[in-house]
Amino acid sequence: MKEQHPTKEQNPQVDSRLSRFICDMPKVELHLHMEGSIPAETLLGFIQRKGTEPSIRSVEDLNARLTYTDFSHFIEVWTWKNTFIQDEKDFKVIARDVLTDLSRQNVKYVESFFAPGDYRRMGLSIPRIIKYVIQGKEKAEAETGIRCNLIIDFVRDHGPEIGMQRLEEATPYLDKGLIGVGIGGSEQLFPPEPYEELYREARKRGFRLTAHAGEVAGTESMWGAIKALDVERIGHGVRAKEDPELVEYLKQHQIPLEMCPISNVKTGVCESIKKHPIREYFDEGLMVTVNADDPAMFNSSLTGDYLALAGDLDFTQEEIKRLTTNSIDASFLSNAEKAAMYSAFRKEWAQWETRHR
Ligand SMILES: [Zn+2]
Repeated sequence: MKEQHPTKEQNPQVDSRLSRFICDMPKVELHLHMEGSIPAETLLGFIQRKGTEPSIRSVEDLNARLTYTDFSHFIEVWTWKNTFIQDEKDFKVIARDVLTDLSRQNVKYVESFFAPGDYRRMGLSIPRIIKYVIQGKEKAEAETGIRCNLIIDFVRDHGPEIGMQRLEEATPYLDKGLIGVGIGGSEQLFPPEPYEELYREARKRGFRLTAHAGEVAGTESMWGAIKALDVERIGHGVRAKEDPELVEYLKQHQIPLEMCPISNVKTGVCESIKKHPIREYFDEGLMVTVNADDPAMFNSSLTGDYLALAGDLDFTQEEIKRLTTNSIDASFLSNAEKAAMYSAFRKEWAQWETRHR
């Protein structure tokens, strides 16, 4: 299969050796939405199958549709894109294609969100979606060597009662491909506190916990995720700097932030990469990680995010390695798995240095 986005890996501001390193280096992805990462060819196939969008005949036509005026517009296009998923079995194709695509960037390990509840109103069965996502990810693991664990996104817009139903449906798959729970969706409309009981129950059952916070809503949403939901990680956390006490708390407790710089620029949360707070947080000693969020929606990639940090925020090779090891530390893997991954990454870096001396 040809490279999906031939130009996005190039950033003229990054020197060619660092750029090569970033493309080649082993990577971990902790904040990725499966349905926001569907390779353009795969989504185009779904669109043509449905046959309701005659104006979209190519990947270029599709990418032209994927631009956003603001966060609400992004959610609108997101919902439009989901209407082309028609069958539970599509999720097997999606999971396989998404992970195969990521393996081409040398992504070794992924913790990926998916939101089966979004498709219930289309008559799809939640347990069947979960089953097929797991089958697709297992296929990609066997074919490419990538590893993936799944996080079910309850989507805060659906409310905590529906979330509890989703938790019931997801529980049989815990440790069989599913590892955690999250809430994405319209953060500005749905604060975290009503989800306290749902998160408590998920934790009791053994699910790992993350929540989107401080992306669209402010620091009170992040405090809510920390205090009411007792999350282990925070999705985004861009707005933490509005409250110095919160920054201090994140630093003291080393609560990982799953930051997604390109996503934040594309949805209008941040004006530019240069103005993104990730550099400030990193220098301050916060536990920051780099992630792509919805790369297919932004015509971007995890590699592109790292290149942007090197180009616009002067992250050096050593700092980029540090960000990568932060992702290993912040993952929901066991300590033994983290240690094994860390040593495999170190070995790969050393081999790269030998080849590029
Ligand atoms: Zn997200």
